[in-house]
Amino acid sequence: MPATIVLKPGRERSLLQKHPWVFSGALARVDGDPQPGDTVEVCAAGGDFLAWASYNPHSNIRARIWSWKREDVPGPDLLRARLTAALALRKALVPSAETSALRLVHAESDGLPGFIVDRYNDTLVVQCLTAGADAWRDAFVVMLVEQTGAAAVYERSDVDVRALEGLPERTGALYGPPPGGAITIQENGLSFLVDIARGHKTGFYLDQRRNRQRVRELVAGRSLLNCFSYSGGFSVYALAGGASDVLSVDSSAAALDLGRRNMDANRLPAERAEWLEEDVFHTLRRLRDRARSFDAIILDPPKFAPTAAQAERAARGYKDINLLAFKLLRPGGLLFTFSCSGGVSAELFQKIVAGAALDAGVQARVVERLEQAPDHPVALNFPEGAYLKGLVVEVAGAG
Ligand code: SAH
Repeated sequence: MPATIVLKPGRERSLLQKHPWVFSGALARVDGDPQPGDTVEVCAAGGDFLAWASYNPHSNIRARIWSWKREDVPGPDLLRARLTAALALRKALVPSAETSALRLVHAESDGLPGFIVDRYNDTLVVQCLTAGADAWRDAFVVMLVEQTGAAAVYERSDVDVRALEGLPERTGALYGPPPGGAITIQENGLSFLVDIARGHKTGFYLDQRRNRQRVRELVAGRSLLNCFSYSGGFSVYALAGGASDVLSVDSSAAALDLGRRNMDANRLPAERAEWLEEDVFHTLRRLRDRARSFDAIILDPPKFAPTAAQAERAARGYKDINLLAFKLLRPGGLLFTFSCSGGVSAELFQKIVAGAALDAGVQARVVERLEQAPDHPVALNFPEGAYLKGLVVEVAGAG
């Protein structure tokens, strides 16, 4: 018999709207002795069944919903059905001829809380973010191999959020051989080296795929500054799209090394690409002091605010780099500016960028809004799933 968690009166409201999290403050009591990752029944104060969830006594998100119907008992059948749906969606969304790397499973938004699965050619990389995902990991990996025919599955559960769940970080091969070094994937017909074992996240920022393509389409003939470049994703697309030159800045030497190799892999002219290992906050000031200017700038910083609580500090960081970028842009220049902070809404982000333009003394307008690629869908009952927002801002021309 699974344990039962009973909510305080009135606290069932968000669950009735199908929001998939139960916070610790909503709990009235726990009947039974569920362990981290165990399945529990969630009941309203009056005893009505609300959902099946995975329980974690160490997390502020005390339970994550697996299913909303009593007959959908969490287990292999439910996981398999959700996985099948997730894979079908990706088949429809991402043309496989041009792109061999994509997100197959996007956690809550695919009805699989805590599970991230990214495909790089025939290798899958899995992240388990929660105790519930840990509990089902091994069964889930068997299904993944069955349904995708993958040759290898590697785990990259070395993410900060696991600490909030009271879970240690964990990496290693789960099926097949471990990756022997960086592998080459295709994205929109371009080649990229991905270091699955040591790269950031699962190896590549797949969520920016569409936005990289947009940059390729918009920067012909422009001189570009790519801040927080990682392995040069935007830089490669920019040169492939005819940018005149690209300066890429990142604090990670390993990422920049991959970036240089990515230029070669696409036979792009190395002399048009410059790589700088430096703190972007310093670089932008130095470039400003030297009165350098660019026709396009990309700002794709790491998450400054994982939750709303850190939003204010994050806002200062975003304001700072956007203000400096506006000062470096020539009239008619384009700013591609991003935030992947869950704690900063699209509306707040636009306000911050507007404040930066004002303080920089430039007139500018939003010409396009960007978001995460469609293999990172957002379930409508889980707006938190929409984390990446971007603006293409054009600085007014002279006169
Ligand atoms: N635009 C990239 C992803 C950027 S992720 C792509 O499309 O692939 C953020 C990057 O910022 C990481 O590579 C990280 O190494 C780098 N970074 C974090 N803080 C930094 C800082 N203060 N200065 C320079 N780089 C930084």
